[in-house]
Amino acid sequence: MDQSDLPQNHWQLSERARKLTSSAIREILKVTERPEVISFAGGLPAPVTFPAERMREASDRILRDNPAAALQYSATEGYLPLREWVAKRHSVNGATIRPSQVLITTGSQQALDLLGKVLIDPASPVLVETPTYLGALQSFSMYEPRYVQVPTDEQGLIPAGLTPALTAGARLLYAQPNFQNPTGRRLPIERRRALAEFAKKSAFPVIEDDPYGALDYAGDPLPTILSMAPDHVVHLGSFSKVLAPGLRVGYIVAPEELHFKLVQAKQATDLHTPSFTQRIVHEVVKDGFLDTHVPTIRALYRDQCEAMLAALARCMPEGVTWNRPEGGMFIWVALPAGIDSMKLLEAAVAQNVAFVPGAPFFANEGQGNTLRLSFVTVPPAKIDEGVARLAALIRERI
Ligand code: PMP
Repeated sequence: MDQSDLPQNHWQLSERARKLTSSAIREILKVTERPEVISFAGGLPAPVTFPAERMREASDRILRDNPAAALQYSATEGYLPLREWVAKRHSVNGATIRPSQVLITTGSQQALDLLGKVLIDPASPVLVETPTYLGALQSFSMYEPRYVQVPTDEQGLIPAGLTPALTAGARLLYAQPNFQNPTGRRLPIERRRALAEFAKKSAFPVIEDDPYGALDYAGDPLPTILSMAPDHVVHLGSFSKVLAPGLRVGYIVAPEELHFKLVQAKQATDLHTPSFTQRIVHEVVKDGFLDTHVPTIRALYRDQCEAMLAALARCMPEGVTWNRPEGGMFIWVALPAGIDSMKLLEAAVAQNVAFVPGAPFFANEGQGNTLRLSFVTVPPAKIDEGVARLAALIRERI
């Protein structure tokens, strides 16, 4: 239902609510639910990767052995064995992470909201990549920051661009070093080191949002910035891309002082993340399941990414460029200057193919000739067909 279809009343909404807008893209993309549409628009993981049988066994065991605890209210901080598992998993490359730094959240999307709540005042400067995750912009925008775009190139955020003039008064820097949504870029090791050094000296936290880190196709992850500066970085993790997003289980690793404030904010928001889903996640991951499961997800996404890269190389006209992701779920495409990807989307949807235009991923002025393609839920034959249709539409516009 569109907002204009809703019955009108005269209730006084908050200033904040009045500023909320529905995205034009979301309206256009509604049609992508039709089965005949080849959609490269979704950010959803492939359902074939959900370990349903493991989950069923885990929930049976939990409900048999300790139903009272699984179905009862529980601590805001989260289920202690899961917090301990997270702390251990991140105690690598010489870093020690304490369970007292870990807060389990209702997806990492909630982590973004909680960080906005405790760090942002109206008009506070917030540093973001160019472009950045649309959902982070939506969460932070509830707290009315002033966005400052950090210079970025095809390798990601440029730490040397974090000058005192640019960063003065900032409340946080939001970064995604691994297979960024929307660009698929991975930040090189020397830039990670530079960002860790920056975090150690900075008067505000560096937020490392990392839902895609495990999905590196070569199985050769780069160290997290958290591991390089464990008491100066706030790290967000998620089980959405390695188990299932419907569980809504993620986490924040933060220095204790900030952790405490986040716990207070979370208590007011939802008391705690569901006791039952936290226990299911712990039961499934505790004996090393991810070590065998994640490689199967990587292999699937790597093959589909290869199929899309091959189709792009075969079909796209000269002047269209894209990156070669080393992991994750997205390819970022730049069209020749002057082609508006928002207009292209309307034409594409009429031909039953969809993608997400790039402009909304920019906090301030966007590049209207960019777009994001996801390959994870589309089988290779359909990838070929969809890319060929898109290429034909682009060729008409050159
Ligand atoms: N951060 C990024 C960069 C994402 O792409 C997503 C999901 N699309 C999230 C956070 C939120 O993930 P979840 O709440 O499912 O953990």
